[in-house]
Amino acid sequence: TSVDAPLLQIDGLTKTFGGFTALDNISVDIKKGERFGLIGPNGSGKTTLINCISGALRQNAGSVMFCGEDITQLPPHLRARRGIARSFQIPRPFKSMTVLENLMVGLDFASVPGAAAAALPEEEVAMSILARMGLAAKAGAPTDTLSQVELRKMELARAMAMRPKLLISDEAMAGLSHSEVDEVLDLLISLGDEDITIIMIEHIMQAVMRFSKRMMCLDAGRIIALGAPDEVMANKRVQEAYLGT
Ligand code: ADP
Repeated sequence: TSVDAPLLQIDGLTKTFGGFTALDNISVDIKKGERFGLIGPNGSGKTTLINCISGALRQNAGSVMFCGEDITQLPPHLRARRGIARSFQIPRPFKSMTVLENLMVGLDFASVPGAAAAALPEEEVAMSILARMGLAAKAGAPTDTLSQVELRKMELARAMAMRPKLLISDEAMAGLSHSEVDEVLDLLISLGDEDITIIMIEHIMQAVMRFSKRMMCLDAGRIIALGAPDEVMANKRVQEAYLGT
């Protein structure tokens, strides 16, 4: 496949709850290695869209293609195995377990059986991921001794343990200080540099703007803007959508 072939192709996706249309005919392609920001006011359909991508929700119409294959009918665990990881989709950390033990639980959900890394002992794989996330020194620490930012990094490490092609980062910055937001952003940007495609849902606008190569704004289940971050933020419909929220 060509380098520019989309990793994720969403075509005509519609999702209704009873008589209410939460997603209305959404079509968008996301490229391999792209850092993609998904924004929109509360209730605009961001979570519903992510749920339709991960398989947690079944759409009423439309299709989702991943790596050129139709995954529309696949349950969440089979989509995960194909490389779609969502931070927070793995059960919440067990507080009394260490960081390393928590990551080993994540490895049990690992996506690609027989991948090169799988030849290594699990603990070695887990340690290399922790090092990648700047958490190596915390490997033996009980999870309940971690700071907020360390917990977020552990969540990302657990998602990375699934060796995703597509990582969905859902509100990873909430409650962090400015410098901590920058730390997590730098981490996510470096994952993007390794060809991991990332969709970020984030309310902290400066963070999602700094992160994204492209942004999409939803309002009432429809795409109202799609393009470079500064273009999207300058869009009148986007500004109006955020007024009064
Ligand atoms: P966002 O993530 O942008 O805040 P959501 O995708 O969570 O928006 O919600 C979009 C709309 O769909 C909202 O109006 C919400 O109330 C509605 N909605 C979401 N999930 C359900 C559900 N399970 N049942 C009924 N309505 C839902």
